[in-house]
Amino acid sequence: MSERPLVTDLVQIKRLGEQKRDENLRLRMHLKRHAFVERKLKNIADAIEKKTDCLACANCCRNATARLQERELEAVAKGAGMRLKDFLRDCVEESEEEGMILKRHEDGSCVFLNGNECLIYRHRPTACRHFPHLTSGPGSLIWRMWEMPDRATYCPIVYNTLEAWKDEVDFQRTV
Ligand code: SF4
Ligand code: SF4
Repeated sequence: MSERPLVTDLVQIKRLGEQKRDENLRLRMHLKRHAFVERKLKNIADAIEKKTDCLACANCCRNATARLQERELEAVAKGAGMRLKDFLRDCVEESEEEGMILKRHEDGSCVFLNGNECLIYRHRPTACRHFPHLTSGPGSLIWRMWEMPDRATYCPIVYNTLEAWKDEVDFQRTV
């Protein structure tokens, strides 16, 4: 486990994540070409997740889109206290790349975000539950790594995990 201090300040995360965008993309190629113990990397991510206070952050709800699966629409609508047809009309939109997603306010935040609080927390979509998809999610870890350089610009868990993974797999940093 890396001894690096965790970076939690969101302004710093944005700056460092942008600075390391190319390097983080290169990390994906490194993992693709070298043997690594996936369980170890997931344990590192898990430990960093446990040390991070998501309630004080909520930055994913301001930056990432929340995808919806067809089979969970009814449950999420019910959790929001809405009829399915009202929920679909007022809270859901179709994205060309991502399919059904939750609508966002003009500032980019999710329609269900109030301050740092998710108004449908107990009923939030699966994509929100699994975010940032370091330890679980669709496809393999290597496949999911495509999205991590971008996530590292706004999510402290992703930023700190990628830094710890670099130490774990002896990755040569450039920044
Ligand atoms: S549904 Fe809740 S957890 Fe998901 S993006 Fe919206 S506010 Fe965040
Ligand atoms: S998952 Fe990342 S961006 Fe979302 S609240 Fe937690 S630390 Fe912040």
